[in-house]
Amino acid sequence: CGVFGLYAPEEDVAKLTYFGLYALQHRGQESAGIATFAGEQVHCYKDMGLVSQVFNNDILRKLPGTLAVGHTRYSTTGSSLKVNAQPALAKTRLGTLALAHNGNLVNTFELRQELTKRGVNFNTTTDSEMIALAIADEVDSGKDWLKAAISAFELCSGAYSLVIGTPEGLMGVRDPNGIRPLVIGTLNEGTTRYVLASETCGLDIIGAEYLRDVEPGELVWITEDGLASFHWAQKPSRKLCIFEMIYFARPDSLMHDETLYSYRLRLGEQLAVESYVEADLVMGVPDSGVPAAIGFSRKSGVAYGEGLIKNRYVGRTFIQPTQHMRESGIRMKLNTLKDVLTGKRIIIVDDSIVRGTTSRKIVKALRDAGATEVHMRISSPPVTHPCFYGIDTDTQDQLIAATKSVKDIEKQIGVDSLAYLSWEGMLKVTGENPNSFCSACFTGDYPISIPEDVKRSKLI
Ligand code: SF4
Ligand code: MG
Repeated sequence: CGVFGLYAPEEDVAKLTYFGLYALQHRGQESAGIATFAGEQVHCYKDMGLVSQVFNNDILRKLPGTLAVGHTRYSTTGSSLKVNAQPALAKTRLGTLALAHNGNLVNTFELRQELTKRGVNFNTTTDSEMIALAIADEVDSGKDWLKAAISAFELCSGAYSLVIGTPEGLMGVRDPNGIRPLVIGTLNEGTTRYVLASETCGLDIIGAEYLRDVEPGELVWITEDGLASFHWAQKPSRKLCIFEMIYFARPDSLMHDETLYSYRLRLGEQLAVESYVEADLVMGVPDSGVPAAIGFSRKSGVAYGEGLIKNRYVGRTFIQPTQHMRESGIRMKLNTLKDVLTGKRIIIVDDSIVRGTTSRKIVKALRDAGATEVHMRISSPPVTHPCFYGIDTDTQDQLIAATKSVKDIEKQIGVDSLAYLSWEGMLKVTGENPNSFCSACFTGDYPISIPEDVKRSKLI
């Protein structure tokens, strides 16, 4: 999911949030929503669809206020239904709160039991609503917004980057492991105002300056008085999702003071070092494989070229919920450049293989277009384990590398050779401490322990 929020009384907060969500659209395409606060008054509009389909000028004009919270949804828990669209609202004795969540809790079963015991009623099936209701319950037991929120987070286990609007101010929060990203930006209009976004591309689009990341286990509280920071977690330990860096986040977003484009370029260079093969052309699977393909070409000296053209107006295939839709989505999405490919030995680079359906189709298309050899190179290791922290990599039996060897996958997708980047190589080129990332979908080493019944729901 994509989350966004800002406190800016001088601005049209709904409109800025609309643009912020527009830049975060790649993080979720199922539903979109904005809640604004004008003192005690909360206005909220959310619906199924893309940001540009859900909102128009008339709707945005009916969302006045001094602060706003926005969300684009990509469902991992709870089904793809309008009631599950966010922000989630919850009433309290201090007024309504609006919560936008990116991530996935792993202890929803216990949390639901605990809240039910306290007499809390649920409207939806999402973990996000549970967080909102947990905070509301703590407020109603007499705490202020900050103490209530922190008490609620202590009940939560899993991944959560949150933006929460209240009548008093705006909150930005990351779980103690900082699995999902969340950044702070500033808007200078005489007074410094603060913006929160899943990625820096959400700041760029409204002309906000990147200030810093919200840290793992940190809560920032943004009000008329500025920004206050609280390190609420007992033992914060950063485990940023490496898949954000490899694939999920936009290439123009900054992580560790550089664009992810630059990181992905280095993944491609490392891939060339590890698995060079002689060929006439290197190309990427658009768009996500392109930076690594350019890196591969630079390092290997094999010419870079384009052989696949993407229809820009077809959404990311994996976000559409059914397998059937996924498969037809891929046919709609890519076309080949026959005169470029005919008679050529091709190295095709992609960021990841998850189910293997994309790769198989692409390889067939390249051969149909006349490629004489097709070598596939993947700028991440084999995905062998499901994600429980908010990326929909499906159940383990759907992951091609969970049950098949590289040689078997090579055969199944029909390539002359297949090689994945090593796990060490992927982490080395981050230039960061390798222990500061989650890479469980490549190793099964989950940094936040997962209850047995939840594990069983996705593991073979
Ligand atoms: Fe990211 Fe994979 Fe960890 Fe999920 S399991 S948080 S996708 S690295
Ligand atoms: Mg891709």
